[in-house]
Amino acid sequence: MTPPLMLTTWSFGPVGADAAFPALAQGADALDAVVHAVTAIEDDPDIDSVGVGGLPDAGGRVSLDACVMTDPDRAGAVACLRRHPNPAAVARRVMERTIHVMLVGDDADDFADAQGFAPRELLTDDARRIWEKWRSDPGAIDRDKYKGWLPPRNVEELRGVDVSARRADLSREPHHDTVGVLALDTRGRLAGACSTSGMAFKSPGRVGDSPIIGQGLYVDQTAGAACATGTGELITGVSGSFLIVELMRRGAAPLDAIRETLERIAARFTLQEEHQTAFLALRPDGAWASAALRPGFKHTITTADGSLVQPPHLVLKP
Ligand code: ASP
Repeated sequence: MTPPLMLTTWSFGPVGADAAFPALAQGADALDAVVHAVTAIEDDPDIDSVGVGGLPDAGGRVSLDACVMTDPDRAGAVACLRRHPNPAAVARRVMERTIHVMLVGDDADDFADAQGFAPRELLTDDARRIWEKWRSDPGAIDRDKYKGWLPPRNVEELRGVDVSARRADLSREPHHDTVGVLALDTRGRLAGACSTSGMAFKSPGRVGDSPIIGQGLYVDQTAGAACATGTGELITGVSGSFLIVELMRRGAAPLDAIRETLERIAARFTLQEEHQTAFLALRPDGAWASAALRPGFKHTITTADGSLVQPPHLVLKP
């Protein structure tokens, strides 16, 4: 496909594309475009899995993770931000203003303060209500909205309580909404950004795949770009985004690279009902693909013709 183009995980992609694609079409840099797109999605309080409005951890506190990348020597990440709403922009500063790749926790929030990012309460009233409902009765959570996405209560899980019966009657369409954005600009430059509030009701301190270079995101101008959404523990186990880019480097088409990665996950994990994983892959020549482990995933593709929200090219376990 001819550049510029932008690929976004999930159906909220147009929120980011509307904000970032016009400049990308005018020749803006791919990195500016992905950070701009992700920031618009982080700032939308109706999107309850990214930025402000994200669902909290088991203790009721929101923590945000993100990374950005354009090449192996150009990457930045933050994890467990609790006071700043735009982790992708902070991750970009880590990349541009430090000699490091990743900052975490309180120190990452302090870095954001020092860089002039305004702190803000991340827990919205809506997200607090959902958390309170989950805490009082995990089985009663709004199943229409959170189909199949009901992580076990962490305390029970830590104590080894069997929560499988509770899971059994849930729908198979999981609710996983990390935003991953890949872009190819008019000069043929690739960039990616990935941002999340992580798994809802996670154990405090848990970090998934999304801010980890090679897992939630990987970009190499000479081979391609990939990003992930879904159960971070599965993606991490196979270094999902890195694996996809390496397979493309060795000649695999984007869809074949994702298929092989999903097959690796399916072969090496005992899959649970709530597990979902989806990837986007983009080659420097504009060839791209989208695929998911289970039904329910959608991506957004944006070109000069506009944005299309579509199902993936492949669902491994339909
Ligand atoms: N990948 C994210 C994480 O594991 C969550 C998600 O995409 O639902 O933190």
